[in-house]
Amino acid sequence: MKVSLDEPLSKHTSLAIGGPARVFAAPSSLEELNEVIAEWSGMPVVWLGGGTNALAADGPLEALVISTGNLRGIEMLSDNGTGAVLRVSCGEPMKKLLSFCLERGLSGLEGLVGIPGSFGGAVKGNSGSNGIEVKDVVFSVCVMDKKGQTQRLNREEIGFKYRGTSINDSSLIVNADLALGKGKVSREEIKKKMNELFAQKRQTQPLLEKSAGCVFKNPPGCSAGQLIDQAGLKGTRIGDIEVSRKHANFFINLGKGTAQDFLALMELASRKVKEQAGVMLVPEIRILKNAGNR
Ligand SMILES: Cc1cc2nc3c(=O)[nH]c(=O)nc-3n(C[C@H](O)[C@H](O)[C@H](O)COP(=O)(O)OP(=O)(O)OC[C@H]3O[C@@H](n4cnc5c(N)ncnc54)[C@H](O)[C@@H]3O)c2cc1C
Repeated sequence: MKVSLDEPLSKHTSLAIGGPARVFAAPSSLEELNEVIAEWSGMPVVWLGGGTNALAADGPLEALVISTGNLRGIEMLSDNGTGAVLRVSCGEPMKKLLSFCLERGLSGLEGLVGIPGSFGGAVKGNSGSNGIEVKDVVFSVCVMDKKGQTQRLNREEIGFKYRGTSINDSSLIVNADLALGKGKVSREEIKKKMNELFAQKRQTQPLLEKSAGCVFKNPPGCSAGQLIDQAGLKGTRIGDIEVSRKHANFFINLGKGTAQDFLALMELASRKVKEQAGVMLVPEIRILKNAGNR
């Protein structure tokens, strides 16, 4: 397993922002993972999937960053003709999982088309779009604690909520089981639905720019993007970070953007929305920084 020192996190986040991680490793098995954790014991551990929902601080991150990118695999646990159960490893890219389902005519995940990143990251954040969330299909999760102990959690123990779970940040989501439909919808229909939903996303979201998806969670009953738009902030720029003109809840790195500028733009948007709509925005993106740093 390759272990790098002072690995720039800008290379591992969709925003292309982030200073060096003191130690960075991408294990291919739980054995390798436990070895590297033992070797660097005492260091805080940070899990990183696709880095598509993460803002990494500009300075050094004093942590062992574990990329789940090599912990992949999709196993068909059962298939009774009308439904199938899959066990998916955390590092599996969402895009690959959706292709796997399409090839085998498995339905249920179509709404998640276009969500980048890893399956583990999607479970951790209960990612969702088009009216479906990961919680609608996932019924058990295997987690591993810092001591290397694994445990399977059922739905109640996962504690799914809007864009989150109650799984402790120190636990790795190793894999999860999901139940999907089979034979209910034809492969052609699944493909058509995915294509339509993806085309809609392309029209309404800046999918080709450097972003981390939605910056803020939608407050109950309203859209964070609309509130930021109504505050007149579309196109507002701090340094090289800009509020997307296509979707105001996406902040774009135009090239040389920094975490400092990103956070300043978040503060500005929060303040303006609070002033104008009386609503307090809550971040959806995960901020990777040293404990104790603002
Ligand atoms: C263009 C674009 C569009 C997007 N559209 C959507 C959308 O429609 N809906 C939506 O919900 N999100 C969307 N996102 C946000 C993001 O893609 C999702 O939240 C995604 O599921 C994050 O997965 P990731 O692997 O990149 O997580 P990361 O960014 O790597 O990590 C996010 C958090 O999860 C933790 N984590 C990651 N893997 C694990 C693991 N195996 N075990 C424990 N913790 C883990 C990390 O420590 C971090 O706290 C979008 C992002 C972009 C860039």
